[in-house]
Formats: sequence, C-alpha cells, structure tokens
Amino acid sequence: MKTVRLILGDQLNSNHSWFKDINENILYCIFEMRQETDYVIHHIQKVTGFFAAMRSFSKELNEKGHSVKYLSILDKENTNSLTKNLNIVLEKFQAEKFEYLLPDEYRLDKQLKVFCKDLSINNEVYETEHFYTKREELATFFKGKKQFLMENFYRNMRKKHQILVINDQPEGGKWNFDKSNRKKWKENTLIPPFKSFDNNVENILAEINKAEIKTIGKINPKYFEYPINRDQALIQLDYFCENLLVHFGDYQDAMHTNQIYLYHSRISFAMNIKLISPKEVIEKTLEIYRFKKEEIEIAQVEGFIRQILGWREYMRGMYWNFMPDYKKLNELNNKNKLPEFYWTGKTKMNCLKNSINNSLDNSYAHHIQRLMITGNYALLAQTNPDEVDAWYLGIYADAVEWVQLPNTRGMSQFADGGKIATKPYVSSGSYINKMGNYCDSCVYNKKEKITKDACPFNSLYWNFLDDKKKELSGNFRMGMMYSLLRKITPENLFKIKEKAAHIIAVSYTHLRAHETPEHLVCRLLL
Ligand code: FAD
Ligand code: SF4
Repeated sequence: MKTVRLILGDQLNSNHSWFKDINENILYCIFEMRQETDYVIHHIQKVTGFFAAMRSFSKELNEKGHSVKYLSILDKENTNSLTKNLNIVLEKFQAEKFEYLLPDEYRLDKQLKVFCKDLSINNEVYETEHFYTKREELATFFKGKKQFLMENFYRNMRKKHQILVINDQPEGGKWNFDKSNRKKWKENTLIPPFKSFDNNVENILAEINKAEIKTIGKINPKYFEYPINRDQALIQLDYFCENLLVHFGDYQDAMHTNQIYLYHSRISFAMNIKLISPKEVIEKTLEIYRFKKEEIEIAQVEGFIRQILGWREYMRGMYWNFMPDYKKLNELNNKNKLPEFYWTGKTKMNCLKNSINNSLDNSYAHHIQRLMITGNYALLAQTNPDEVDAWYLGIYADAVEWVQLPNTRGMSQFADGGKIATKPYVSSGSYINKMGNYCDSCVYNKKEKITKDACPFNSLYWNFLDDKKKELSGNFRMGMMYSLLRKITPENLFKIKEKAAHIIAVSYTHLRAHETPEHLVCRLLL
C-alpha cells in the first residue's frame, strides 16, 4: 500500500521502528515551514539548528535507501503550511494511507487530528518511541490525588525502571541528594573545554535571511555549536559523562560571570529533537558511574538522572494532563509588560545582563539562570505570563512547548497556582549573591532595599509578597517569609513599595526596538 509518513522537525529519531525496513511504497515527508518559524520570534540558532538537523536527518534516510520528500524553506513547491503541503504530497504520490508520529505539541496534535478527520484515505498514528512514559501515564499515576508532587512521580519512575534501585530501595540510601547539590563555583576549578563541532551553516543562514524570517540573537555560522546529527549528540553526551558528570550535582545551582555552561550537559536540544533518547542518556551516565565509582559520587549521578527521568517526564505528563487550559492560566493575575531589556540585554543589573546576554549569544542559559534570574525578575515585576512564555519559547534552542510551558508558566511564574511548584520561586538579591558572583561587580548594592543604588530584586521581592498576600499568605511554605514581611514597619514598607513601583514603571517605559515615541505613549496608555 502506498503510504506517506510525516516526520516533524522535533521527531528525528533514527532508531524508530519505522526505519527498520526499506519500502519503496513509503514516502517520508519533512517540511521546513513558516507556520513553525513564525508562531513566536525564535532565536536564530534555534531556527538554524532545527533546519540543519532536519536536513541532515533527511540525507541520512536517503543514504539508507528510504524515499524522502524534503521541502526547504525557499523551495518553490513549499506552501509553508503543514496541511497544504501534505495534501499536495498525498495527491502526487497517490497515497492510500497517511501515517504520522504523535506530536509532542498540543497545537500540532490538534492540527493533525483535524486534518485526518477530513481525509478520504486511511490514517494511523504511532508513538515516537522516545520518552519513558506515555502521554497519559502521569495522569493515571496521580489519579484521585490533590497534589502532583514530582518527587513521588520520580521515585515511582526509579522503581518502575529499576534505575539506581536495589531491592526497591534507593541506591546510596537516599532517593534525593538535592541538599548536597548547592555549592558555589570557585574560579580556580578547571572545567575541561568542549571542542566545538565545526558545523558550517552559512547556506542555511543565507536561506533564512532570504526568506526574511524574523529572529533574535547571534550566531557563528562557521562553527555552529549545537549537535545536528546523532553522532554529534553522542559526542556531546560522552564529553559530559567523561568530564562534567563528576561535579554536575555539586554546581547544579551555581552561577558565574566567566561561565556559560559550568557542569551542565547542554544535551536538551539534541534530546528534544530526539537525536538521542532519555534512556540512552541515562544508560550512558550509569555506565560511566559504575566504571568510575571511585571518582564519581552518587549525588552527582542521582542529581542528573532526576532531571531527565524525573523533571523531564513529569513536565511532559503535566503538559498533556492540563492542556489546553494550562496555557491560559494566570492565577496571580499578573499584567505587566516584559521589560524591553529581555530582548536586548541592556540593563545595569549584572545578573540579568549576564543571563540575558548568554541567552542572546548562545540560545542557552542553564536552569538556575532561567529560574532564579530571568524567571525570578519577571515574576517579581508581576509580568503577564503570556509575555514571559513568548520570550522563553523563542529564545532557547531547546524550547518546545511541552517542556517550555510547564517550566515557565508553572514552575517559574506560579501562574498555575501551585500545580507544579509548591511555592513561587522568588528571591531577593541575597540568594543570587549566595549562588554566584554577579553581585561582586554590579553597580547595585545587594544589601540595600530603598537607597538609590539598592538592588532592585530587594524592593521588588517585598513588594511582590505584599501585593500577593491574598493568593500566597495561606501557603504554609511561605509562612516564614510572611512573618518577616509583617516585621517591616508601615513607613518602610511604603518606601519599599514606592521604589518597586518606580522600577517596574521605568523598566517598560524604555522605547522598544522599532518603536516610535507615539507607539510608546499608546502602549503605556493601554
Ligand atoms: P542539564 O542541567 O545538564 O540537565 C540535563 C537535562 O535534564 C536537560 O537537558 C533536560 O533535558 C533535563 N531537565 C533539567 N531540568 C529540567 C526541567 N525543569 N524540565 C524538564 N527537563 C529538565 N528545558 C527544555 O528542554 N526546554 C525548555 O524550553 C525549557 N524551558 C525552561 C524555562 C524555564 C523558565 C525554566 C526554569 C526551565 C526550563 N527548562 C527547559 C528546563 C532546563 O532549564 C533546561 O532543560 C536545561 O537548562 C537545559 O540545559 P542542559 O541540557 O545543559 O541541562
Ligand atoms: Fe543582581 Fe542585585 Fe546582585 Fe546586582 S546586586 S547582580 S541586581 S542581585
């Protein structure tokens, strides 16, 4: 039977059972499309990385003997719409059946379901064979429970998949070594440098420019740093296991002005487009740990495995459990605009300047920069979660909605009212100072709240707690913070709130790129 099979840009799994046999009656389709490049403004490295990996995957399939219909962004036949492209290919190939892999994004899942409903030929949908869990597995696990605690889900995953488990008990005596994973990184610790891939993406970049796709951020087209095929993804994983795993947990929450990646694996892009699977990543990690047990402590390995077996699968399950309503949640009723400096990096706040410039330069920031710097500030400034989502979904190469949305709207912005995080991840300047060196070279004073040079995080923090009393003071994990807030005298609190209001107003009264003063006036009047 003549069959057309669709492969989406984040479904580049060469180990999928689809590819076991060569069949000339099967045509694989891979499309670069404006519908995907334009739904938010993406980072140039994200668009380039996706296109480069898709092209490389198509070539690999061709070389193995599979038939592939690849439409590049400037291809004359390309309508830039998924369903229109499919209709044309189905007709030309005289297909008798259409098959696709389960999309991980709600938007595409819906689009393909609607498409199949109207099809006159048979259709079938397949698992992507990537994740440990099925879409609905988390919902079944938490059925009847009021809280969706990640830790419970994670322990169950450890037992179910027998990972770091001996006789149903955790290897090393503890399920979670999080408390030992909070060291501040010192400059004299040597991190072995990663030899970058010399992927030349000049041609792809020229096409993106010719197509006038709007993007943000920088790129080095001669040495594109992200892995764009399976071999490169495996090299990156090996480098991590051999060199970084040994301190992954120790410095998981650390931040430093001289370090972009510290001991983080940078494996998210390769995993999210499915060049490698979470199972392969975990198995390789365990293999190295068993081999180097004298050198690598269990706390490092457990810390890393928890991110993938725990958080990654958990976020996906939460996404599918709560979509589509999740995307509209704004339980803290935050309405402010995202400050302009998120798009330019132009701010005097050293922590934000570093984290945002890392993101603009590399399409990357590690977890604690995303959560405790950019996410923290956006929440303290009471930013509309739609604006925060659009920024996170655009700027990171690894940003696909099923993992970006629960992390941003849930974990970081508490807009889901606590489905994911048990309390908001907010802090004043003292936490930022404790975990990194940004404050040492900042123009602001980390200890002050209301002076001219006071760290903006400080007044914003107490102002946030005061503004959100109704929503948060009943949260038992916030009890200590609210008792400290009550100790601030009304006069001081007034000054703090005045300062915070000024910071918020100033941060979005700057002219945005391409904005005229008239636009600014209209925006502020809205
Ligand atoms: P490492 O620190 O080396 O961690 C290893 C792997 O664990 C990661 O590659 C990732 O696959 C997984 N992981 C770690 N933390 C999480 C988490 N919270 N949720 C899911 N998986 C996790 N991750 C994305 O993949 N895409 C996103 O769009 C994304 N958006 C985020 C937005 C916010 C506001 C926050 C706070 C976190 C976000 N994360 C996202 C999670 C995490 O920050 C990134 O996975 C991580 O920084 C990727 O870098 P790495 O590969 O070096 O990670
Ligand atoms: Fe950030 Fe405040 Fe520290 Fe400056 S003083 S780096 S603004 S936390």
